[in-house]
Amino acid sequence: MSGLKSSFVKLNPIRGWLFDVYPLGKNEITVWLIAENGERVRLVDTFTHRFGVSGSFSELNSLAEKIGENPSVESWRFVKKHADFMEAAWKKVLEIDVSDYQEASVLARKIARSGRYEKFRLYNVDVSIAQAYLYDKEVFPLAHVMVVAPGKRLYCDVLDSVESVDYRTPPLRSMRLNVALKKEGVLQKLTDKIDSMSLDFGDKTIMINEGNEAEKILQLVKTVKEEAPDLIFTSGGDSFLLPCLTYRAFANGVLDSFVLSRENIPLKAEKSCGKTFFSYVRVYHKAPTRRLFGRVHIDVNNTFIYTTCGLEGLTEVSRTCRVPLQRAARASIGSIMSSLQLYTAWKEGILIPWKKTEPESFKSGWELLVADRGGFIFEPKLGFHTDVVEVDFASMFPMLMLTRNISAETVLCKCCPDSKLRVPELGYNICEKRKGIVPKTLDLLLRKRSKYKSLMKEIEDKELRHTYNMRQAALKWILVTCFGYLGYRNARFGKVDAHIAVCAFARDGLLKTAAMAEQHGFEVIHGIVDSLWLKKEGISPREVADFCREVSSAVGVQLGVEGKYRWIVFLPSKVLEGVPVLNRYYGVFENDEVKMRGIEARRGDTPCFLYKAQMEMIRKLAEANSLESFRAKIAEALRVLGDYAGELIGGHVDVEELLVTQRLSKVPSGYAHDVFQAIAAKQLEKAGFGVHPGQTVQYLIVNASSRRANDRVIAAHS
Ligand SMILES: [Zn+2]
Repeated sequence: MSGLKSSFVKLNPIRGWLFDVYPLGKNEITVWLIAENGERVRLVDTFTHRFGVSGSFSELNSLAEKIGENPSVESWRFVKKHADFMEAAWKKVLEIDVSDYQEASVLARKIARSGRYEKFRLYNVDVSIAQAYLYDKEVFPLAHVMVVAPGKRLYCDVLDSVESVDYRTPPLRSMRLNVALKKEGVLQKLTDKIDSMSLDFGDKTIMINEGNEAEKILQLVKTVKEEAPDLIFTSGGDSFLLPCLTYRAFANGVLDSFVLSRENIPLKAEKSCGKTFFSYVRVYHKAPTRRLFGRVHIDVNNTFIYTTCGLEGLTEVSRTCRVPLQRAARASIGSIMSSLQLYTAWKEGILIPWKKTEPESFKSGWELLVADRGGFIFEPKLGFHTDVVEVDFASMFPMLMLTRNISAETVLCKCCPDSKLRVPELGYNICEKRKGIVPKTLDLLLRKRSKYKSLMKEIEDKELRHTYNMRQAALKWILVTCFGYLGYRNARFGKVDAHIAVCAFARDGLLKTAAMAEQHGFEVIHGIVDSLWLKKEGISPREVADFCREVSSAVGVQLGVEGKYRWIVFLPSKVLEGVPVLNRYYGVFENDEVKMRGIEARRGDTPCFLYKAQMEMIRKLAEANSLESFRAKIAEALRVLGDYAGELIGGHVDVEELLVTQRLSKVPSGYAHDVFQAIAAKQLEKAGFGVHPGQTVQYLIVNASSRRANDRVIAAHS
């Protein structure tokens, strides 16, 4: 953003943090600042949305002749940009400034239609306005800034950096909103009246339970205004709570006053919402966003990053990827990651093609690799082992993409057919002239994550260590997504060949490592994707460290020690006797930590009761430190099992502990077989609950072999 102009110095610059950014009005951006003195300041900046059109020279010229007459066009010009990011060449592009944000896509469609959808290609049309503003002005959410704002202009000095790992964030005021309804039927619905509301501010709770319903709603509005929270937390605010309150406001004729934003904008009512039922069964399918202006609404049921990495992680990705906090709270990780790629492209004059959708689901790197082919895998040597060390490559896939310059536009580029950079096995050429968008994006993410990880080792302060841990975990999700998206055809910067190239490098790296391990006298007893299990009698930490150092420099990716096992057991297939299966093992490290994969206790659908039984059995076995003592402990472990079985048979186990939890992949009627989750889903549907794919259902198995499917399980709901 432009520096402070001397003529504005009299205007008293404000120092503070950028809190919320959104378009409002024809070509204006509202910016909320949390000033250092605690004030919340609303500022307005003028920002022009512009998009690009490419096409043949003559078509573009004749378009330019007519375009000025369109009232939505403020101005236009020809510029040189990268219209095709796959090519290094710059192209002449018609750049159009739009006079009203709302008109941009209408105008874009009109142009596309006028060229019969083949003469013109359009760019930057559907980049979110708030994000475009952040990219263009080189600012980011929660950045520490100094601004002056004469009229509808904002001049801003960023006193902060996205690179920073020890940034300060402003103290935010939070409120948690809970609403109790007077339930009239069996299930809660929007027509149920509000009984009471509690507004929890951490240090105090305000109850609203007096007066009629309209008065309660207005009391909520008043309290929120007075207490002025920055963050409003809800459980199910997007899917039920806010639609319900909005509907109640509408039913009571106070919808126009139902304002929870800092901006005087009431929440919107939706016609279809009368059908939504409330259930405590967790809803994973995407609920429409109930956004606020100037405050941030976080629905804890509708945000992945917040749930797994807290406000610290959410803030981190919001800053790093330049996505406003409100959006980061509920966008898929893919679209958060994409924002960083878009910013990288934006800064380089690379235009962003219109209408490339961002996929909502993707497979994790691990899933993709295992699904791919077996070259990565050294089948586990079945049974019990001691003297085993596990070594892992740190961020292997992102590191390979970064160090090998792997990106959609660099793998098999047209500009470097004779490149010395080649993909192993496949021989694909990789660009030597340009650094790809994907590696450029990864560079920042990897550097920051590694800084957080080393800070975590140095720091004594527990709270700070937790903060760093949450931040690095959030960045890890973004990194994983970068790889997941690389092979996704619909991703803006994805290409299947690029994905295949990373896999080939990974396979090559793992094979190289295995060969080096054998030279060091280790036996590779298992290896998969980015981890190896090495065995050697009397294996010493020193020789493992030497080995890791050697491999790290040979492969170019850091190899580290996950730990030495006291013992580890690799399990066979349940179906085919004596046949090893991937990723099914359990073991205990020398520091007593248990690690397991593929067994019941590790699975998300296992009832709590079974988890406890299995963990207690493993804990017994963990006391062993040799094959002999392990054998001796088996009897004790079986006694644990017997005790649990006794409790179950005796009827002393709480039903809650026996519930199986499963995610639905289809609508209930879409299941061809009577699998348990389908039976449970159908039962819920019959009872009047909304049941959607992506949602989890819980059920109790009562008679698994009953001839009548409906008698096999009972669905749970509360
Ligand atoms: Zn090239």
